[in-house]
Parts: sequence; C-alpha cells; structure tokens
Amino acid sequence: MRMNNQRYDLLKDLFQGRRFFKLVCGAGNEDLTEVRRLATIYTIAGVSMHDLSANPEVVEAAKRGIERAYELAPLLNKKIEMRPYLNVSIGLKGDPHVRKATIDRDACVKCGECINACRQNAITDDCSVTEFKCIGCGDCEKVCPSDAIRYTHKRADFENILPECAKRGVETMELHAVTADDEAVMHDWMLLNKIITDNFISVCLDRSLLSNRHLIERIKGLYGITGERMIVQADGVPMSGEGDDYNTTLQAVACADVVMKSGIPVVVLLSGGTNGKTGLLARQCGVNAHGVAVGSFARKIVKRYIVMEDFDSNVDMVREAVSIAEGLVKSNLEAICG
Ligand code: SF4
Ligand code: SF4
Repeated sequence: MRMNNQRYDLLKDLFQGRRFFKLVCGAGNEDLTEVRRLATIYTIAGVSMHDLSANPEVVEAAKRGIERAYELAPLLNKKIEMRPYLNVSIGLKGDPHVRKATIDRDACVKCGECINACRQNAITDDCSVTEFKCIGCGDCEKVCPSDAIRYTHKRADFENILPECAKRGVETMELHAVTADDEAVMHDWMLLNKIITDNFISVCLDRSLLSNRHLIERIKGLYGITGERMIVQADGVPMSGEGDDYNTTLQAVACADVVMKSGIPVVVLLSGGTNGKTGLLARQCGVNAHGVAVGSFARKIVKRYIVMEDFDSNVDMVREAVSIAEGLVKSNLEAICG
C-alpha cells in the first residue's frame, strides 16, 4: 500500500539505506529534565528518532530539547540534517521496560546497595524509589541481599493517552511485548494500528519467554495486520548495554539474525544490549539490520553532563556531550551501512 506521507517515505529511505539510529530515552523514563537534555544532545548528534515513554509531558520535554538543539547547533558549528521522529512506547504487563521498582520495607535491611547500583539515581537515602525516575532495569534487585525489591505495572489509559501523544507530534509508536500472552499482544497491536495509520509501527521482542519459533509466529501474526509498515525491534537482553564490548551486544545481533532469516519483510532494528560495538559485530556476522536502537549505553556515556546543574546554560558542556554522542551514532551507522 502506498502511504501518502512524506515523513513515512523519508523513514523508509533511512531503513533501506541502513542509516537509521534511534535514541531510546526509556519506555519507563519520565524524568523530564533527563529526557529534554538527551533530546538536545542526540538531536545535534544526528539521531533519526527519539523513543519516549507514552506520556504527553515526556513528549513535550523531548520537543523542548529538540528546539534547544536547533538553537545551539549553529553555536557549535553543527547542522541538523533532519528533524528526528518522535516515537512513544507502551508495554504489556511483565515487560521490564515499563515496570517500576518498589521496596518492601519489611524485608529491607537498609544496606544501601541498591542506592549505589541504581543508574537513574532513583533510590533515595531512606530507601524508597522515586517512581518517575525508575526505568525498571532490575539492577537494584540484582544487588539486594534480602529480596526486598518488588515491581508494579500500571496500565495507563492508552486509548486516550496515545491519541494525545499523536496530537503533540508523535509519528510512530512501539509495543514492548515481552510476554507469552499472544492475545494481549494482538489487542495492543490493533490499538497502535488504529492510531498510526500512515507510518511505521514497531514491536519490541526478545527471546527470554519465547522460543525462536514462537517469536517468528508472533511476528507473522502482527505482520498480517500491519504489512510493510512494521518494525521489529529485536532485543538481545533489554537494558543491559552499559558495557562497551562485543559480548554485551552479542544477543542483540543474534536476535536480529533470527528475525532476518525468517524472510518476513519487516524492518529489523538491533536493540537490547546495543553499544559502540553493535554495528561492527552485526557487520562481521553478516546481519544486515536496517538500523540500531541504543538506550542504556547512549544514556550512560553522557550521564555525567546531563546531571550537571548548569548544563542548560553551559554551551561547552553541551559541545563535549555532543561529541561523545556523535561517536556512538557514527560508529554504528558507518558499520551497518557498510
Ligand atoms: S535500579 Fe533500575 S529498577 Fe531499580 S530503582 Fe533504579 S532504575 Fe528502577
Ligand atoms: S539493597 Fe535491598 S536491603 Fe539493601 S537497601 Fe536496597 S532494598 Fe534494602
């Protein structure tokens, strides 16, 4: 089907040319300051898309960050080649991207290990979780000696929230579908298809709960609804990409390989454990994915800048952060477009 949408055509070109890079701010990341600053840095660094929590306030924060990027780019002698797409992500119950940690006060022994482990600074000195900062990564659970970490998943009113996000400029949407429940996946997939009719829709999948065969069967079912507008974000190990080595990114490349070998003509993105080595490993393995989505690692390498109080007024600080972010974007794109 031919889409009457120039932005769809542009996105399709980026995929075909393997020139697509997505910054994942985090499906559960509702820290408005962090999202705004990430949007500024990575817009100047040349990303194609910002992936955001499905929350209109988060969308507005990202838009402010992009506007700031356009103001700052000339001061940094940079040219922004294209306005990045805004994508929002929703997740099904059980998917780690959309859960929030809480601490069971009866079980907690106040050792403080989780405070040090939390990459989002979401745990306060009195051992409680600041919900809007939590991205559900599970790092706190890994270090907790007394099994005191619990998770909650709040199903938001997506029937109203998603159209509101679209009104505010969101062009594509994504479903995080790490669940064995095919019916629930199809229900939410239909919802996204109803809202986004003339652009791409993405499903983020990994193999933690699905066999390779189940993964492909699910993709086939969703492709039957969406056709050529479908993106599969093939997650290796979600939110694991803090290290910059080949092993960390191995599963991201492996999962994309499984999807590409199925022959279903979807767009395939490398994700979940992606870092500065992902594009190169994919190329060496002959996995010709259409793009790369980077979250944890992309956020980590600029974290020391975006937590600074004077970030918004300090152009030299932005320049340094952009230079680091550009390295990540360029190394991946140069590798995957070969
Ligand atoms: S470590 Fe991860 S899951 Fe735990 S509170 Fe921090 S962001 Fe949330
Ligand atoms: S690591 Fe566990 S026991 Fe220690 S402070 Fe955190 S929640 Fe409490």
